Amino acid sequence: MSKKIFIKTFGCQMNEYDSNRIFDAVKEIGFIKTENLEDTNCFLLNTCHIRDKAKEKVYHEIGRVKKNFRLKKKPLVIVAGCVAQAENEEMLKREPYIDIVIGPQAYHKINDKIEEYLDKQKKLDETEFDAISKFDYLNKLKNSSNKVSSFLTIQEGCDKFCHFCVVPFTRGPEYSRPFNEIINEAKILAENGVREIILLGQNVNAYNNENYKLSDLILEIEKISDINRIRYTTSHPRDMSEDLINTYSISKKLMPLVHLPVQSGSDKILNLMNRKHLIRDYIEIYERLKIINPKIEFSSDFIVGYPGEDENDFNATFDLIKNIKFINSFSFIFSPRPGTVASNLNLIDKKISSKRLEKIQKQLSDNQISMNKSIEGSEIEILVENKTENGQSFFGRSEYMTPVIFDGSNSDVGNLIKVKVNNSNRNTLFGESLKNLEQKVA
Ligand code: SF4
Repeated sequence: MSKKIFIKTFGCQMNEYDSNRIFDAVKEIGFIKTENLEDTNCFLLNTCHIRDKAKEKVYHEIGRVKKNFRLKKKPLVIVAGCVAQAENEEMLKREPYIDIVIGPQAYHKINDKIEEYLDKQKKLDETEFDAISKFDYLNKLKNSSNKVSSFLTIQEGCDKFCHFCVVPFTRGPEYSRPFNEIINEAKILAENGVREIILLGQNVNAYNNENYKLSDLILEIEKISDINRIRYTTSHPRDMSEDLINTYSISKKLMPLVHLPVQSGSDKILNLMNRKHLIRDYIEIYERLKIINPKIEFSSDFIVGYPGEDENDFNATFDLIKNIKFINSFSFIFSPRPGTVASNLNLIDKKISSKRLEKIQKQLSDNQISMNKSIEGSEIEILVENKTENGQSFFGRSEYMTPVIFDGSNSDVGNLIKVKVNNSNRNTLFGESLKNLEQKVA
C-alpha cells in the first residue's frame, strides 16, 4: 500500500518551513504528499501556540479528521509543533485518536517514531529539546522547496523571555545554525529555482554562530547570483546591531522593509512585558535606517490591552503608529498563554481592548492605503511568483511584500520585472508589465 501523508500547517513561517522539511524527511521512508484528506493514511498537524485557543483548535481539527474517517480505516495521526511541545503526553491522554506527539526540536526522529509506532502500535510522545541533532539530520536531506520565495531557518528558540510569550518554552533556548550549512542550503534553494530567501528565526537578528552574524549571512547569500532578494524575520529591537543596520547601506539584495516588532509605544508597558528596551531606542533605530536609505519602511507587531495598559499607554502606541507610519503590520488583543508570567496578571476590560484594537487597526489600514496610493502611477520592480488562481493574471510582490496583480506572461515567473502601478486597494497593487505596455505602444 502506498504511504500518503497529508500535512496541515498552522501558524508562522517557521512552521511552514518545518512542514516542508518534515516532508523531506518522511519521503526517505516512502511517503508521498497528498492534498486530499480522504486519500491519506498519515495525517500530520503542525501546530502553533502563539494565538488564542491554540490547543482547542488542535482538538477541533483532530475531531474533523476523526469524523472524516468514521467509516474508514483510521490514518496514523501525528501532532507536531509548539502545541505538541507544550502539551506533550496530555494530548495522547485527552484525544486517543492521536498516535504520535512530536515537538519542534525532535523532527530528526520523526521517521524512527513512525516506524516504531507502525511496528508496536504504541502511542509515542517525543518532545526533547535537541536542536543540534535536528539540524545535523536535516542537513543531510536536500531541501526540496522550489517556490520562487522560500523560507530558510537560520536560528531557533529564544532566551529573552518576554512575559507574554511561549516561544522560550516551546522552542527552547537560542540556537544558531552553522554559517556554512545555511549557505549550502541557500545554494540548493537557488538551484531549485528559488529567487527570494526569507531568513527565519524566532529571534533572527540574534543569530550568532562562531562570530558570524546575520549581516555576514546576508552578504554571503547575496553573492549567489540566482538569488535576487533577501529578507529576514522576526527580529528584536535589542539585536538591531550596528553591523546589521550598516548592511542596509552595503547590500543590494536586502529588501527595504524592516519587520521589527515593538508591541507597545509605552515604556511602562515595554517594561511590564520585559522587552528590555525603551521607545527612544526603537526610534533611534528607525531614524538611523531612514538616513541610510529613506526608502526603508517599517512593519511591526502590536499587542493591545496588555495588563496595566491605561489610556496614556495606548495613546503612546497610537502616536507611534502614526509617526512611524508602519505598513504591513500585525495587531492583536493580549491573550494569556499558560506558563508565561503574563498569564497570571489581571486582564483589562475586553470592551476597552476591542475599541483600542479597532482604533489602531484603522490607523494601520490608513497607513497601508496611503502607502499604496503613493505608488500609483509609478514603475516598480516586482518578483513574479505565480499565475493567479483564476489563470487570468500574474502575482508578484513589491519590495515591501505588497501583493501585485498584473498582466504578465509565463516566462515572467521567477523573474524581477518592472510593472506600472495603475490602481491599488489596501492590500494589493494592480498594474501592467512594462514589457506588455511597450508592445502595445509599438
Ligand atoms: S523575543 Fe520574541 S520570541 Fe523571544 S520571548 Fe520575546 S516575543 Fe517571544
